[in-house]
Amino acid sequence: MDTTQHKKTFYQNLFLKKRFFFAALPILIVTATLALEINSTPEVLNTSLINNSTAGDAERTAPETYAPFVASAVSMADSVPQTKDGIAITTRRDAPNQEIGISVNSEVTLTDQLAAVGKAFGKYLEAHDAWAVITSGKRTSEGQLDIIKERIVERGAEAKFPNLEDASVADWKTWLKAWQWLRRRHVPVNAPAAVPGADVRTSMHLEGRAMDLISDNLDHLRGMLADFSRSKFARNAPLHITAIVREPGCVHINLA
Ligand SMILES: [Zn+2]
Repeated sequence: MDTTQHKKTFYQNLFLKKRFFFAALPILIVTATLALEINSTPEVLNTSLINNSTAGDAERTAPETYAPFVASAVSMADSVPQTKDGIAITTRRDAPNQEIGISVNSEVTLTDQLAAVGKAFGKYLEAHDAWAVITSGKRTSEGQLDIIKERIVERGAEAKFPNLEDASVADWKTWLKAWQWLRRRHVPVNAPAAVPGADVRTSMHLEGRAMDLISDNLDHLRGMLADFSRSKFARNAPLHITAIVREPGCVHINLA
């Protein structure tokens, strides 16, 4: 094979290759277009995967930054009910919903003024990383009589006071002896009503001028209430603490 023939063959081959290239061009274009479509397809698939698994942990990018806020807003609204004054109501009696701040047991009645004092003390607690639960506020005379009945039953003394079960606040003869019996045993309970001529101490709770509170350390709570009463947190409250009594199982405050 001489050089010329070799060149001819080379160009012939090249021509054939070019022809093949141009013949193959439409196929290449279609392939490239398909490749682009395939490249874009996974994004669509991924998006649909994320959308399908939104309830799980698939949303790791932007949604995660606001998801906790959504969750806490939902839990505040759904599982942490509040009084009309905005004080958290305990979901489990005597247990704070949060480690910081004030909450109140569901059965407690708070007047607007008591609630304002409770909220002010709540601000103090938040500033001191502490918690407390309000376990008693304004009581009715009937509620106070119920407490006397409970304390008598707890001590197994029902037989001594046969009239007590059907006692009424107005008929003091039905409960006075039971109340005096408890007082002699230093049970902290006040009379449901004043009794003419008798040394009967009625409760400041009846007048909406007292609250009972608890925390994990009642002596510490007593100290905090004393500190709070002198602090800026108490300054704008409508009632001020006039007495703090460490009772068995709670700290009682009188307000005026
Ligand atoms: Zn009390």
